[in-house]
Amino acid sequence: KLYNEVQDLKGNIRVYCRIRPFLPGQNEKQTTIEYIGENGELVVVNPLKPGKDSRRLFKFNKVFAPAASQEEVFIDTQPLIRSVLDGYNVCIFAYGQTGSGKTYTMTGPDMTSKKDWGVNYRALHDLFQISQNRRSSIMYEIGVQMVEIYNEQVRDLLTCDGSQKRLGIWSTSQPNGLAVPDASMHPVKSTNDVLELMNIGFMNRAVGATALNERSSRSHSILTVHVRGMDLKSNSVLRGCLHLVDLAGSERVDRSEATGDRLREAQYINRSLSALGDVIFALAQKNSHVPYRNSKLTQVLQSSLGGQAKTLMFVQLNPDVESYSETTSTLKFAERVS
Ligand code: ADP
Ligand code: MG
Repeated sequence: KLYNEVQDLKGNIRVYCRIRPFLPGQNEKQTTIEYIGENGELVVVNPLKPGKDSRRLFKFNKVFAPAASQEEVFIDTQPLIRSVLDGYNVCIFAYGQTGSGKTYTMTGPDMTSKKDWGVNYRALHDLFQISQNRRSSIMYEIGVQMVEIYNEQVRDLLTCDGSQKRLGIWSTSQPNGLAVPDASMHPVKSTNDVLELMNIGFMNRAVGATALNERSSRSHSILTVHVRGMDLKSNSVLRGCLHLVDLAGSERVDRSEATGDRLREAQYINRSLSALGDVIFALAQKNSHVPYRNSKLTQVLQSSLGGQAKTLMFVQLNPDVESYSETTSTLKFAERVS
């Protein structure tokens, strides 16, 4: 089949594809990206076997070419983020193999340069600005939590002592709506507060890892922004919650090579990413049963997946020829949940 169409997304799930640029030293001539359309079309080809058989068309809500800036990406995400101030729950993920730009999209390469800021900082910056300037009758309070899920254990990333304590997940019927109530909650009033907290988060993420990259590519990190708005005119309270998720790398691990800890990690990652896929698939199909209970990841995010909640997934691609097979499997995942 020449064309393999990803349906245009209905309802509350949308998928954006972002292709990262070639890095210095990579051979730009051997790209797997053949065509990027204005309306979310993407044609992928195997450059070693070009021809109809290896050419496939995908359709997303949007495709960001390698040259797309952080700001362009954010502009298309902003309405979703702002809906949190109206009391919606929103979940934004980055999915893809290690090195495909998940952290670049969600956080950015360098927080000291505003131009490079990823969705995280821009989202909070935007929420602060709107909540402070434009909605005078509603008083907003914003608090953040940040947790990591590693080998199906949830850990607080914002405790000063880098606590290794495992945290429990509560059912979402809690009155305060917190899925991980024991993770520390930090009130934030400015983008600077957020920058400081995220610094702590990144340092804690490195604890116990041989190298920062190693650990961060094998765990999911979830930054949760809780918004509470008190309408002084009507005396009512609204709550919204935004999850910003940098998922573990989706690459398949060679079973013949991985052993021990590495194999266990890979199995946990596999299982949780497919649990996430199953949940989004069930939601997209409007199935009555949604299998939230199959992973910690989907349990933590449950109140922001389905119902009135809005979901956005960034499908991250690495354009080089060595990544062709991972690119194909990333696109298969995207196709299924679209
Ligand atoms: P991941 O988190 O998926 O493992 P990273 O975000 O760490 O991947 O990206 C891998 C490398 O590619 C980093 O050096 C990053 O700075 C670079 N990179 C990723 N996306 C972009 C982009 N859109 N523009 C420029 N460099 C990028
Ligand atoms: Mg990363």
